[in-house]
Amino acid sequence: MATEVTCATSFETMLEQRGVTRRDFMKLCAGVAATLGLSQAMVPQIAYAIEDSVIGKETGKLTPVIWLELASCTGCTESFAQANNPDAATVVLELISLNYSETLSAGAGHSLELAKEQTIEAGGYLLLVEGALMEGWDGNALRIGWDGTPETFEQAKGTKIVEHAASNAAAIVCTGSCASDGGWQAAHPNPGGAIGVQAYLEKAKANGEFDFDIPPIINIPCCPSNPEHVVAVLVDVLLLDTVPELNEVNAPKFMFSQLIHDNCPRRGHFENGEFVYKFGSEEEKKGYCLYAVGCKGPQTKSDCPKVRWNRGLNWCVEAGAPCIGCATINPMKSDYNWVELNAPFLSRFKTLNINGLHVDPTHVAFGVGGLAVAALVAHGFGMKLTGRTKGGAPFETERKWDTKHPEKALCTADAAKTCATAQHLEQAAEKDAKSSAKSSKKSSAKGGDK
Ligand code: SF4
Ligand code: SF4
Repeated sequence: MATEVTCATSFETMLEQRGVTRRDFMKLCAGVAATLGLSQAMVPQIAYAIEDSVIGKETGKLTPVIWLELASCTGCTESFAQANNPDAATVVLELISLNYSETLSAGAGHSLELAKEQTIEAGGYLLLVEGALMEGWDGNALRIGWDGTPETFEQAKGTKIVEHAASNAAAIVCTGSCASDGGWQAAHPNPGGAIGVQAYLEKAKANGEFDFDIPPIINIPCCPSNPEHVVAVLVDVLLLDTVPELNEVNAPKFMFSQLIHDNCPRRGHFENGEFVYKFGSEEEKKGYCLYAVGCKGPQTKSDCPKVRWNRGLNWCVEAGAPCIGCATINPMKSDYNWVELNAPFLSRFKTLNINGLHVDPTHVAFGVGGLAVAALVAHGFGMKLTGRTKGGAPFETERKWDTKHPEKALCTADAAKTCATAQHLEQAAEKDAKSSAKSSKKSSAKGGDK
């Protein structure tokens, strides 16, 4: 009993010292449950697990974590740890024994490297990776902590550091796009050979560079990763001793399974065919849909509209910026990740992903039948055709513009070689070309008749 009082007191004190009220703490637990897709009935269990872990700090129960900083802008650490207010990260950093972090650890140099070595030797730690691996120049494009001796030259390569740190880890959490699939660093021409952790480890294992089993990998997309996602995954893996259900790209299914478009507060405008075509316009002031200025919400799966950013204050689309699709990852194809797929960010995709069906609005004008038209009718682009709105979606202007400037639209020929969406587009383009060739043949035939 006496211990319980001490424990409760030390936990309350810890919260108090960080300016976190009990109410804030319970809100954090509720947020974690919601982000993980757990029932709110789990909130007390989460609260208990967090308290128990923090109290464990005094009895050495904390889970060791190695946080590697590879090729990155440190944005994910910033996003997670910056605390101008007491927040989730402040509490969660108390849940772990952060034995190594180039950015957050107070120690540096040999003592920090030693702490990492000892953690790896002991095993059972969580390996958190931020940033891309660099394979370029025989792995020398990224070197960390080389002491200048020939003996350590090889092991100071970022690729070898990750291999070594993965060798005894219980699980690997890739935080952010760069660790998940190379991110910005992997954008063409990628001279440094940036690659995501999963792709690198699987390739190195296949090449016989190591023989240990690769630990479970959890990818947390977004650029930077959302601290709410990281906190939820850490609580799940470290405290509840489970791994969230993952989707086909090893990202937590619950967080990355719904299209942003489906939960967007501007969706009503999309349905009504009310779009922003120009920043600074009246349409923008009215908060219309941002699809025509490049919003990738219809192709991007993430819970951003629900979890939001900056302690739930706001998120991209609500703040007036089109979604640039940073939650899309392609872990096994770093050379075709979200940057390659979605840039230039203010150009719109030619197709819409409506419930998994890729629809090209331009095709409506060419009279594609059946399902596609049914989908479009339900989605505003067909409204003009059905006469249900006055004027309807002014997409014809956009369509004509796209036709005249094919180089400005996304997913054109180059991209089509590697991306499923783009392959669809290529087929669509071929179809278009054939149909325009047909119609020009017909019209020249008619011209000839005259
Ligand atoms: S296109 Fe973008 S702004 Fe428009 S409804 Fe979809 S997600 Fe929202
Ligand atoms: S709304 Fe889009 S750009 Fe913004 S964080 Fe989410 S996925 Fe990334």
